[in-house]
Amino acid sequence: MGQMMALKVDLKSIEGEGDFPCPSCGTIISPDDESEKTYKIMDIETFDDGSLKTLTIICKKCRKTIILEGFELLKNE
Ligand SMILES: [Zn+2]
Repeated sequence: MGQMMALKVDLKSIEGEGDFPCPSCGTIISPDDESEKTYKIMDIETFDDGSLKTLTIICKKCRKTIILEGFELLKNE
């Protein structure tokens, strides 16, 4: 429900340190930024071992729902 409008971003397909432009409005969103200035976390899904699987956020500028996946890549930081 409600995920029909969601945009998907796979962090594995993004170069750099995990920052990515919002697929809708281009605002740079950093998953490491916990100030929630550019986005708001709506839902967090984890694997059995507790590591991050997907993160559902809302871009504060365009209010689009974005589902982030591919966090496996960021584990070894
Ligand atoms: Zn946006």
